[in-house]
Amino acid sequence: MKYKFLNSSILGADLNKKKSINIIGGGISGLMLGYHLKKANIPFKIFEKSDKVGGILGTKKCKNGIAEQTANGTLWCPAFINMCNDLGLEILKPNSESTARFLVRDRQLRKMPLSILELANAVTKCMFPKNNKPETLRAFGEQFFNKRMTDYLLEPAFLGIYNGLGDELSFPGTMSMLAKILNEHNSLAFGGIKNLFNHKKDPNKITGTLCFKNGTQDLVNSLQEYLYKETELNAEINPFGNKTDQFVSCAPAYAAKDFFDDDLRVVLDSINYSSNISMTLFFEKTKIQNFKEGFGCLISRKENIGILGVLFNSCIFQHRVFSEGLLSLTCIMRDFDGSLQEKTDESLLEFVMNDLNKIFKIEGQAKEFSISRWPKGIPLYTPQLYQNWFEINAILKNRYKNINLFGNYTSQISIRGMCTEADKFVGS
Ligand SMILES: Cc1cc2nc3c(=O)[nH]c(=O)nc-3n(C[C@H](O)[C@H](O)[C@H](O)COP(=O)(O)OP(=O)(O)OC[C@H]3O[C@@H](n4cnc5c(N)ncnc54)[C@H](O)[C@@H]3O)c2cc1C
Repeated sequence: MKYKFLNSSILGADLNKKKSINIIGGGISGLMLGYHLKKANIPFKIFEKSDKVGGILGTKKCKNGIAEQTANGTLWCPAFINMCNDLGLEILKPNSESTARFLVRDRQLRKMPLSILELANAVTKCMFPKNNKPETLRAFGEQFFNKRMTDYLLEPAFLGIYNGLGDELSFPGTMSMLAKILNEHNSLAFGGIKNLFNHKKDPNKITGTLCFKNGTQDLVNSLQEYLYKETELNAEINPFGNKTDQFVSCAPAYAAKDFFDDDLRVVLDSINYSSNISMTLFFEKTKIQNFKEGFGCLISRKENIGILGVLFNSCIFQHRVFSEGLLSLTCIMRDFDGSLQEKTDESLLEFVMNDLNKIFKIEGQAKEFSISRWPKGIPLYTPQLYQNWFEINAILKNRYKNINLFGNYTSQISIRGMCTEADKFVGS
């Protein structure tokens, strides 16, 4: 058995690029697609049902600094950099003191949470050839490394990005590069080394997360301005029954399901989203002990701490706080059982402070905090969703040749991934 991969994250048949395309949804996926269509002189229109573009992406201005609602930035890719340069957007590179990434073990910040013995065991295991193809991230971690490495490194890292536990997440759906190596080689170490030798490094690559002076809102505002003439707000679109016009839906799966009345509706309806909360807190630096400069820390579920990780915003980027003596931290939570979304802001603050105090010693309270609640925040990249991509693609190609589906549930969860796909779409 070999893992399958899609040619494009924009699912469906090839649309006629000489005819106008209706983009449904002005979130970041719809805006980036609009940008690339405009650059390629392909006629299009963006329809956004709310009174603003950006979707879940955006930045709040607080008294003491800024707070991101969702993404705190994105990783480098050529399509994203070219788009920002063309829009005249100045990219904010990460500070040099943000390179350290921590994992929490025994409630302490560690650069390496495994002992030398645990690490040696994990590395040795990955060298031995294996014939099986793991389905989940946990199965991959435990078979190719070991349980410790899966609990303390792999699972926390993927919880931070995909919000899913190791046994919830699809291995080929979240680690396509490694899955491609396993399609060709039984030994991960051998395949990985061969890939390293063949890999050409882009000399322009900027390492680390990138953002903008006023946060991701700068990107949204800039795209909004560029696409002003082509965007219609307060325009809810449903292409149901329309067989003539062309559409790319950039609405989430739970909204796009309404565009269909057959098994495609059932498939889209079955896509689960994790419920999450992001809380940004501003502290006086002197009030936090045990703090270390860095990008942030990820927390293993084994630590019995509720928050999944903490981003050290004001260490990563400049302009995140409005005064030198302040620190801005963002805590990401997943509401596993529905209890967190029910909490009031005050009791959520208490919950987060209690967790933060397990890692850092904080004197007193935060000066300010900002909460963004997302009951349907991030699509869960389960083995089922991985299978769904091929099914959705086939149904669209067979029955809905005038509709494509795109968004963070169609195989690229990040802004970087979606930007690369939007760029590829106009070139195809
Ligand atoms: C807490 C959190 C942290 C994250 N951190 C990162 C990160 O660090 N880096 C990163 O790259 N990504 C991150 N992400 C993911 C990223 O923010 C999302 O993937 C991205 O913003 C989703 O964009 P979208 O356009 O696909 O969807 P949305 O933002 O949901 O936009 C969809 C739009 O479609 C509109 N719409 C829906 N139905 C219709 C209709 N019928 N007609 C017209 N309009 C319609 C909606 O109103 C909405 O504006 C994070 C996400 C969360 C929740």
